[in-house]
Amino acid sequence: MQENSFFPQPVQAAVSQVLQVGSHIQPFSKESTEKAPRIRDAKKVHSVCPYCAVGCSLNVYVKDGRVIDIEGAPESPINHGTLCPKGSATFQYTVNSSRLTQVLYRAPYSDAWEVKPLDWAVEQIAQRVKKTRDETFVERLDDGREVNHTLGIASLGGATLDIEENYLMKKLLNGGLGIVSIENQARI
Ligand code: SF4
Repeated sequence: MQENSFFPQPVQAAVSQVLQVGSHIQPFSKESTEKAPRIRDAKKVHSVCPYCAVGCSLNVYVKDGRVIDIEGAPESPINHGTLCPKGSATFQYTVNSSRLTQVLYRAPYSDAWEVKPLDWAVEQIAQRVKKTRDETFVERLDDGREVNHTLGIASLGGATLDIEENYLMKKLLNGGLGIVSIENQARI
């Protein structure tokens, strides 16, 4: 307590009351106190932007089994939390209500397109991959060298495939099915 205050006692009391209001009793609304960042309680998964060779680090936020946000990783020595416009759009490729859920299929010798569900298309691709691999798989070359490969199928990926998808493709197509012609437009 200051003994020789510049202000008279009533003024000191008023100033002290105002300071108390400022420092202790904050006038937050109920809405303000209930607000929370959208990523609160979300699990953070590290990833890498799939677009270009800079290889910016991403934090992917997952809640209830769903991706709710993707941001640049602040702890990354490469991008320090920043992303270029392409990298910033990564979330929209993962979660997008405009994503196609049907395909157009034109049967051999037909002149008409049919609308088919996506699951049907995936099944068709799987069947054709299996058939082609069965028909073209080579265990040994003529000189006896073991190769266990097929040259009848190739894979060409694009930059909107994320790093996890590329990893799975490499595992399945190369290690699993023996496909050797695997390419991707992006370079990580
Ligand atoms: S596309 Fe942009 S965000 Fe993605 S790695 Fe390249 S510079 Fe980084």
